[in-house]
Amino acid sequence: MNNSISTSATLERYDFVIAGAGGAGLSLLYYLMESSNLATRSILVIDKSFEKTNDRTWCFWDEGSSAFENLIHHHWDTISIHAKGFNKSLSTAPFTYKMIQGIDFYNAILSKAKSLSNIHFQEATIQDITVLDKYNISKGAKVTWQGGSAIGNHVFSSLLPFQMNQLATAAAYSQSLQNKDTSVKNAPFLWQHFKGRVVQFQQAIFNPSVAKLMDFNVPQQGATAFMYQLPLNEKEALVEYTIFSENVLDISEYDKVLDAYLAKEFPGQPYSIAHEEIGAIPMTQLSLSNYQAPIYAIGALGAAIKASTGYAFQFIQQQCKNIVTQLEQGQVIQSKVHNTRHQFYDAVLLHILLHHKMEGAAIFKRIFAKNKAATVFKFLSNTSSIMEDIQIMRSLPTRIFLPAAIWVLLRRV
Ligand SMILES: Cc1cc2nc3c(=O)[nH]c(=O)nc-3n(C[C@H](O)[C@H](O)[C@H](O)COP(=O)(O)OP(=O)(O)OC[C@H]3O[C@@H](n4cnc5c(N)ncnc54)[C@H](O)[C@@H]3O)c2cc1C
Repeated sequence: MNNSISTSATLERYDFVIAGAGGAGLSLLYYLMESSNLATRSILVIDKSFEKTNDRTWCFWDEGSSAFENLIHHHWDTISIHAKGFNKSLSTAPFTYKMIQGIDFYNAILSKAKSLSNIHFQEATIQDITVLDKYNISKGAKVTWQGGSAIGNHVFSSLLPFQMNQLATAAAYSQSLQNKDTSVKNAPFLWQHFKGRVVQFQQAIFNPSVAKLMDFNVPQQGATAFMYQLPLNEKEALVEYTIFSENVLDISEYDKVLDAYLAKEFPGQPYSIAHEEIGAIPMTQLSLSNYQAPIYAIGALGAAIKASTGYAFQFIQQQCKNIVTQLEQGQVIQSKVHNTRHQFYDAVLLHILLHHKMEGAAIFKRIFAKNKAATVFKFLSNTSSIMEDIQIMRSLPTRIFLPAAIWVLLRRV
């Protein structure tokens, strides 16, 4: 079998089948290619389309240099937070806030993989993934698509029941949850949904060294909403209207707010739109997958998204690195990336946002007013110490957070 993209294949066995070549599938492929033990194993990568577009930008904070340092499109060492009567700039040191364009990431990994004869590609829509023998997982799992199938000794899937860059499929998924049993129907679930534009002005108006992480001076949609403004140079920025709420909006609603915001912030300044992105990221601790070994869920499907923030890129890197280490050492695959303590905090914050116990704007304003960006980043990366957690919690009102914490604990017992 050659390693070019094919549209049909005979039944073949691979060491690893990667079902879904997006953020997680390609990250796993990257770490497998980097592994001295596993780089020559047979790998099949399947996706419904390898015609990748710049469908998302990934932003994340990082200390030092990352695996994808050569792909960094822009970075910032200062962030700012804005709300009514509140404007604060914070140094991110020792972290840096970084941006990678999706297309650069996809192209870099795919072009390396296509040069390797042990890596094979199948462009097809996967219909089914099943364990061949649940009493003997070494028999592997079968992946089926229209016109073909293959067996993987290990299969890694990131196939969600909706597409995060298509709002309609996210809305349909929310609807489908209503027909599920009570535990699923009542599980806390918000969408982090957004529309962003890369705008280009004729005049120099941005400070390219400051990322406006959250500007809450926008319509809150009865929930939590902010503008995210990332300048790429003095004339160009990604400006994104982001909402944490139960339902996605009609596309025209995001546009209305973006138009008004740009007109208010930059009066009389003409601009053109170079690029747009939309997304709906699930903020939940509901398990989106029920796979069993040797099928493993990764990425959004594999609970890599942090439920309280929607950030996933760095957790996906951690998850894929962990999996490759476990494979190298012949250990049982454990794809969980969020620790129990930080999952508890996520559940509390999600509960507060979902039930409108306190406005998101007020929560984030208090957190950033009283803490260094680095402490907040550590807290949100699940790497903070208990002392740092206490420091963050002291920024928040006990009368709201304590009952929420008790509610979450009682729900768990
Ligand atoms: C627009 C957008 C911006 C984001 N920005 C950030 C950010 O700044 N920071 C951050 O931390 N996170 C961000 N995220 C969240 C998260 O990091 C990304 O969604 C990430 O791409 C998730 O990776 P994934 O592999 O789980 O899903 P995806 O990247 O969506 O990959 C899934 C892959 O599976 C394929 N597929 C699906 N179904 C099938 C099928 N039946 N058969 C074959 N192939 C199939 C798809 O074509 C796709 O290639 C963003 C998400 C979106 C949508």
